[in-house]
Amino acid sequence: MHEHPTTPSRIERLIHSPAVRSTYASLLAHVLILIGLALLLIPSLEKPRPRPLVIAMADAESIDMVAGAAAGGDVGTEEIVVPLTTEPVPPVDDATAVDPPIVPVTDPVAIVPDAPEADQRPRTEPIHAIAASLAPQPRPGSVATGRSPFEGRRGPTRGKGLLERGGSAASEDAVERGLAWLARHQAIDGSWRFDLSGCRCDGGCRDPGTVASTTASTGIALLPFLGAGHTHVDGAYRETVTRGIYYLMSRMQPTPRGGDLGEGTMYGHGVATLALAEAFGMTHDQALTKYVRDAVRFIETSQDLHGGGWRYLPGQPGDTTVTAWQLAAVKSAGIAGIAIPSPTIDGVVRFLDRVQVRGGEAYGYQAPQPRPCTSAIGLLCRLYTAWPNEATIDRGLAALAKGGPDPDAIYLNFYLSQALLQRDHPLWQRWNARNRDQLVARQAARGHETGSWFLTDQDTAPGGRLAHTALAVLTLEVYYRLLPIYSPDAVAGGW
Ligand SMILES: [Zn+2]
Repeated sequence: MHEHPTTPSRIERLIHSPAVRSTYASLLAHVLILIGLALLLIPSLEKPRPRPLVIAMADAESIDMVAGAAAGGDVGTEEIVVPLTTEPVPPVDDATAVDPPIVPVTDPVAIVPDAPEADQRPRTEPIHAIAASLAPQPRPGSVATGRSPFEGRRGPTRGKGLLERGGSAASEDAVERGLAWLARHQAIDGSWRFDLSGCRCDGGCRDPGTVASTTASTGIALLPFLGAGHTHVDGAYRETVTRGIYYLMSRMQPTPRGGDLGEGTMYGHGVATLALAEAFGMTHDQALTKYVRDAVRFIETSQDLHGGGWRYLPGQPGDTTVTAWQLAAVKSAGIAGIAIPSPTIDGVVRFLDRVQVRGGEAYGYQAPQPRPCTSAIGLLCRLYTAWPNEATIDRGLAALAKGGPDPDAIYLNFYLSQALLQRDHPLWQRWNARNRDQLVARQAARGHETGSWFLTDQDTAPGGRLAHTALAVLTLEVYYRLLPIYSPDAVAGGW
């Protein structure tokens, strides 16, 4: 029906809602944090080697084939309830099968046929559809204001958030350079790979990663674009984002328990789901609805019913990092209007209760044995689940931030920045100024690496330059991507 005028204005209004934005921001932050945590946590177990990321995102089989078979291999007999597209998923490496340039970049609106039939559309159709024809789905609760949580990522609002929350002209320039590097390193099939394969880098950048999951890498790479307001519907990177989102959609594996995006690890599933949920929340593109819903369902059915968390494989007793990813994804989907059953969130709270120490000031990985990273993640999760003990959270954050940001602890800093800003913590301003300037100063400025990051963090090395760059950009986007999660709307409309 018509036209852009309607959609944009609605979206804009939605975006203006601090609550919505904060929630999404939180989700993104969480996701990132989770990744970081996963990397950090796992790595910290084995000091000399960068195992964390690898472990976190490695294929399930390589981690625990036995457990995998036991936990996730028994779904064959279940009735298929998932409304997933039954079409076979195109092989990843088969560029031709993946509907290459599906991207109707030139005119997203024109492509939009009948919104109602979005779910039945063949895979080859552009995912943008919606844009104009879809009326933003009013989210129960916080969306009542008609605003979107993502509003702050664009235009004047973005600039305002940047300045008010501690960003700088230099950090914004760094974000732009980082996005440009990411765009240059997108593979031909629309994915991003931790090992930088499939793109035009061709060895031009050092420090490639080794993690195999292409959904994890693609999801992580997409988040910085979404964080800066670039979607598959509009923005200078519309085509880039479109190809990335389409790639993720093509990788979803239908299962009786939902759509699996993990490529063998729940880390990948959480990150990919978060990216799709954000894109959906920002555009209300109905072509994404089913994918987000199915991915969320997979998260729900993969939760450890006893402990309440998630780990590499469905049903395994959880760990803080993987759990945080799922929480961020689910929270983001909830903000976008996808119904999230309360038992899922109750499980997260149960898990946090089990790994916390000092009354909730610090958190462990799988047990109450706190590390800085897991503590930062746990505190963020507390914020997202609207934990009422704010004083406890602030004490925990103070303990983590009082020493100032370690220049190389990119994951920890990513998480901490989100939590400190959300709480408007007394240490935020000083901590942020240092962390921000350190990050900007460490951005590569020569050759093909220009705009990227790779810090000397052994624990996160498996993610390589791609992961570090994505996390660094996300950290520098915190000023407008993240909003106070404790705002009344965010809390009320949360789940
Ligand atoms: Zn390169």
